Formats: sequence, C-alpha cells, structure tokens
Amino acid sequence: MAVVIDGKELAKKVRGNLKIECENLKAKGIRPKFAVIMVGDDPASKIYVKSKSKACDEIGIEYEEHILDDKITQEELINLIHKLNEDKTVNGILLQSPIPKHLDIDEAFKEISYKKDVDGFNPVNVGRLLLNQDTFVSCTPYGIMKMFEEYKIDLEGKNVVIIGRSNIVGKPLMACCLNRHATVTVCHSRTKNLKEKTKNADVLVSAIGKPNFVTADMVKDGAVIIDVGINRGENKKITGDVDYENVKEKASYITPVPGGVGPMTVAMLMNNVIKATINQNK
Ligand code: NAP
Repeated sequence: MAVVIDGKELAKKVRGNLKIECENLKAKGIRPKFAVIMVGDDPASKIYVKSKSKACDEIGIEYEEHILDDKITQEELINLIHKLNEDKTVNGILLQSPIPKHLDIDEAFKEISYKKDVDGFNPVNVGRLLLNQDTFVSCTPYGIMKMFEEYKIDLEGKNVVIIGRSNIVGKPLMACCLNRHATVTVCHSRTKNLKEKTKNADVLVSAIGKPNFVTADMVKDGAVIIDVGINRGENKKITGDVDYENVKEKASYITPVPGGVGPMTVAMLMNNVIKATINQNK
C-alpha cells in the first residue's frame, strides 16, 4: 500500500517558509508585489485567481488584480503587460489562461518580462530550463519536483514516464526530470502501446484530464504515481486521472486528488514571486 504524498501539508509548509522570507524582505523595506491579469470571467479562472490572492494574503505579498473586458484587443493587453513590466513596484506578473480566442496567448507570454515571469512561460525561461540554468520553473512541474525532494524520491537513473505533453505540465516536467538525471518518456494522444510504456515506469505522471485513465494494470509494482489531472464530475466532485483506490495498492507513493499536486502549484507560484523580488533587489 502506497505512502500518500500530502500536497496540502507540504504546500502549507512552503507557504510558512515564504511568510518568514517575506517578513525578512519587509524588514529591509522591500514589499513583494504580484500582479494578475485576467481577461473575461471564465468561472474556473476566477476560482484559480482567488486561490492565488488568498495565498498572497497569507504570506504577506501585495496582490494586484487586472480584470479586462473579454473584447479587448491584443494591443491593449500587451500595453498593460508593458506597463506592469515597467512598474518597479511589481515583482511578478501572471496572465491567467485561458484568454478569449481572438487573443494570442503565446505572444502575450512573450511580452511578460522574463524577470517577472513567475509562471515560467516566457520563451527565455523555457529555454533556460532546457539548458538547466537558473530560471522560473512553471509552477506545476516545480511543485512536483518539490514533492520528490520532500519525500526523498531520487530520480537519478529512474524511468520517468509522463502522459501529457502540454507546455504547462508535460514538457517542462520532462526538462526538470532530465535535469535530475532521469530517463524520461513523454507520451501523448498519438503514442502507440501506451501501457507498454507505463508498465516500465518507476515514476508515472499523468497530466491529461481524463478520470480513471490510469488503471492498476498499467502500473508497475512499487511505482511512484503523480496525478496531475483535475476532473470535475457531475456532482462537482474533483477527481484525478488515476484510479486511485486500485492503483494505491500497487504503488510505493501516490498523490491524491484533491490535496496532491494542486496546492503545490499555488505554493510554488508564491515561491517564484518571492524569488523574483529577491532577484530584482540584488
Ligand atoms: P492539455 O493541454 O489539454 O494536454 C493534455 C495532454 O494529454 C495532451 O498532451 C494530450 O495529447 C494528452 N492526452 C489526451 N488524451 C490522451 C490519451 N488518451 N492518451 C495519451 N495522452 C492523452 O492539458 P494540461 O493543461 O496539461 O492539463 C492536464 C490535466 O492536468 C487537466 O486535467 C488539468 O486540469 C490538470 N492540471 C492540473 C494542475 C494542477 O495544479 N493540479 C495544473 C495544470 C493542469 P496531445 O498533445 O496529443 O493532444
């Protein structure tokens, strides 16, 4: 039976440490400030944005929200980003996705100064991650790496299999694991013989968004299972991608949903805001 990786508790610990760092900064007259841009009123985004503002309050980071009309132009969005880039009181900037389809989010991410890009989506930061240089690692992969560190799960020489190749989870996680000397396989919807790959995983990460996709027969005995998926059922109950009850009998470690990767994502975002503040005040 697997050890349950308690993301909620670890996130609380991370936030507690950040609160102390934030107090130390304030004692030196430095006030960390985080700006969030949201375009339109996507209900899921509203929930995510609220959890970010709550975490800022708890840690002592000043929080500034820019809610834009869903009909704004790309130019207006970029103008706001440039304004926040130039604002010396703002240390971290995040553009909440999704944004309306008439806007180009990749172009917008490119415009966020890489020094304030606490989500790690600016191509400079993505490139630095691939080069194994100091950077802002995007928050979900970063949270997963923090879990490995806390639970002393060494990746060196391990077979890590990641299902999902998105820019926010699968690809940056691939780079993180490679940088820790794992042998990494990234799977996606066109992957053939998926089970053959997952059965070989010492560490299996699922980030696709399909409930009960990863079943016990796909998992090697003693594997570490990281479930990134967030799926809302009809009764609004949140589940991950993994058939948790059955897989936990075979795994050595497993993350629950909720209470696993999700809380870590917000905690590591806060970590990046404090890091950006420290870097900008060196
Ligand atoms: P995404 O951009 O939709 O990517 C999904 C990935 O899954 C794609 O690479 C897709 O392959 C792959 N995929 C879909 N069906 C598959 C199948 N049958 N077999 C193999 N691969 C398959 O999603 P995302 O943004 O990465 O998010 C993934 C999940 O994680 C969602 O449930 C999301 O809500 C959750 N999430 C959670 C957190 C957190 O903090 N816990 C953060 C981010 C995301 P193709 O590339 O071939 O289409």
